[in-house]
Amino acid sequence: MTVIVHDVVCGMSTETGNWDEKAEYKDKTYHFCCDGCKGAFEKSPDYHIENFAEEHPGVDPTGQQA
Ligand SMILES: [Zn+2]
Repeated sequence: MTVIVHDVVCGMSTETGNWDEKAEYKDKTYHFCCDGCKGAFEKSPDYHIENFAEEHPGVDPTGQQA
């Protein structure tokens, strides 16, 4: 099964495994296209998660099934 993960900072998405940058937050693993996006996420994770949720209703950026 292909799992798509989303970078909540820049909005890019890819199949899981393509990106090396990851961050754990509130028991979920977030994936990032680059170290810059990961750094931005770690500074203000809630802001980016909420922003992504507003722009992508119903999409789980971590690719995990609810
Ligand atoms: Zn990115």
